[in-house]
Amino acid sequence: MDADTLAQFRDTLRRFVREKLVPLEAEVAETDHIPDEIRAAFAEMGLYGLSIPEEYGGLGLNMAEEVDLVFELGWTSPAFRSQFGTNVGIGSQGILIDGTEAQKQTYLPKLAAGDMIASFALTEPDAGSDAASLRTRAELRGDVYVVNGAKRFITNAPHASIFTLMARTDPSIKGAGGITAFIVDAKSPGIKIGKPDRKMGQRGSHTADVIFEDVEVPAANVIGLKPGQGFKTAMKVVDRGRLHISAMCVGAAERLIHEALAFAVQRKQFGQPIAEFQLIQAMLADSKAESYAARCMVQDAARRYAAGENVSMEASCCKLYASEMVGRVADRAVQIHGGSGYIQDYAVERFYRDVRLFRLYEGTSQIQQLVIARNMLRQAGA
Ligand SMILES: Cc1cc2nc3c(=O)[nH]c(=O)nc-3n(C[C@H](O)[C@H](O)[C@H](O)COP(=O)(O)OP(=O)(O)OC[C@H]3O[C@@H](n4cnc5c(N)ncnc54)[C@H](O)[C@@H]3O)c2cc1C
Repeated sequence: MDADTLAQFRDTLRRFVREKLVPLEAEVAETDHIPDEIRAAFAEMGLYGLSIPEEYGGLGLNMAEEVDLVFELGWTSPAFRSQFGTNVGIGSQGILIDGTEAQKQTYLPKLAAGDMIASFALTEPDAGSDAASLRTRAELRGDVYVVNGAKRFITNAPHASIFTLMARTDPSIKGAGGITAFIVDAKSPGIKIGKPDRKMGQRGSHTADVIFEDVEVPAANVIGLKPGQGFKTAMKVVDRGRLHISAMCVGAAERLIHEALAFAVQRKQFGQPIAEFQLIQAMLADSKAESYAARCMVQDAARRYAAGENVSMEASCCKLYASEMVGRVADRAVQIHGGSGYIQDYAVERFYRDVRLFRLYEGTSQIQQLVIARNMLRQAGA
């Protein structure tokens, strides 16, 4: 996208977020539902196809352009982004990077248009951080695979049209090598979606268990028709996902700072606005400095990713720093609000819960630390 068009799109998105989505936040949290017209507006703007190339009906943004828009989306409840987050991330990118041309033609235009929702089904009850130990089994019988197993915490599962499913096709290989990526029609007989999980926050976005009982998946639905490559496919898109989430953290931090500053300026104690107390100013200043640092990190890593550099370590640095940063910023925003920060009428109470997830999914903070350290040791030849 050329720079002028991107700038215009960012302004339109900013206005939409602030004028349409922010006023709906409390209602979405209350009802746990995102209005259909908002989903339609996301589709109209092309948000389901942010990262899908134009030839397949998407906007074809590179990573640097994507984070620029995601900073804006982070300003409002993360549940809104979740509607199209799985289509933008692994749901489409696995097919794009490793899929056959026929798979790309079949799925990408529908995903880009928002006519199809893709969910990414990797995590299992006994395989979280150690995802390569997953046990869901896909057994080849003739020209179909028969899938049995259980997936946990799958975002958008209740709304999914397809699952990008990671299952073990070769039980003799215990780790990543025995895992294959499939595109599975969510309506296939034998798939059961559990009740939506009752989460700490991000109401309006839904996760659930997905149970597979003798589900038949055509062998033609193996991504790239290459069994045993599934984990590699997943790992190819993880850097992109981590940068995307980091940009969400930056946007959320900026919103939290905005809320805290506005509150501090109008709230008076001891005869003056609390914003004039230097202890309050210190909290605001720390939050500003840290969110600015995270923004710069994300922009740098995203630019380098777009230029074709390997930024695995930097993407983990961004995810670790930005998700921990927004946790601190949310905590300070609640503190600046005093007792009001604990009350649901104030956005910071909801954001405090919403942003907690960012340290947990797409790799916990501990997993990011391990990735960073592993890369450091490799570079040192240790
Ligand atoms: C709301 C939500 C949405 C999600 N959406 C999806 C989705 O769409 N698709 C999907 O596949 N998954 C999804 N997940 C799953 C998510 O990615 C996992 O929860 C996450 O990877 C952590 O796995 P776990 O919950 O099993 O925790 P565990 O792996 O059991 O970790 C528990 C604790 O142990 C720590 N730990 C684990 N291993 C190590 C180690 N080697 N060294 C040090 N500490 C370690 C962890 O950091 C954590 O603190 C979602 C989760 C949630 C809560």
